[in-house]
Amino acid sequence: MRLAKANVLPTMLAGVVLTHLHSDHVSDLNDVITTHWVMSPEPTPLRVFGPVGTRTFVAATLDALAIDIGYRLAHHADLNEGPLVEVTELAPSTTFELGGLAVLAGATDHRPVEPSLGYRVTDADQSVVIAGDGVPCASLDALVKGASAYVQTVIREDLVRLIPSARLHDILDYHSSVEQAAATAQRAGVKALVLTHMVPPPLPGTEHEWRELASAFHGLIVLGDDMVTLDLDTMDVTS
Ligand SMILES: [Zn+2]
Ligand SMILES: [Zn+2]
Repeated sequence: MRLAKANVLPTMLAGVVLTHLHSDHVSDLNDVITTHWVMSPEPTPLRVFGPVGTRTFVAATLDALAIDIGYRLAHHADLNEGPLVEVTELAPSTTFELGGLAVLAGATDHRPVEPSLGYRVTDADQSVVIAGDGVPCASLDALVKGASAYVQTVIREDLVRLIPSARLHDILDYHSSVEQAAATAQRAGVKALVLTHMVPPPLPGTEHEWRELASAFHGLIVLGDDMVTLDLDTMDVTS
């Protein structure tokens, strides 16, 4: 849905890059696979990159789609084979090319979710790190060092602690708090820290609280809701 909102058709994707296989990060992949398949005028593989386990997840997703794939093959005379998905499972420190950009995978710490990966995406001038879920660690520091922007999923520890649920408190030990993300950003010397996957979602009027919690970082702090854009040259933020 967000791709559509960004005017990107699945067939325009150079690939899909997964940080880890938690359901909130991958459960929509089936729609990307299906729409990429049926919208491609001729058989075209969808490239999917991710940590070890991605191959199993994609195979199981295709299994789940088998009945639907059968319907579509029966209905479309010019569709003669099912979706083609080309999976690459990445080890940390692997570099690959995607849509003209260099991408470096780095280990993150989201245990017991492992392996999990963050990505440093680099063009001729700038780098952006998409860290995914996890707590600070040395390999994340190395991945983020000197990047222009660092995109980190974060939780508000102070708010999560207010909810009397042990099951919810469990999420605190494997996600970066806003303070931890700010500390990582400051150590790495990035220009911009983009907070994303914010839990709980910021209530209107509380945005300043998130910025205050991130104040150990002295660069630009962006509350990266869906569809927020950061221009790396001007550091302008639009939503
Ligand atoms: Zn996760
Ligand atoms: Zn998550």
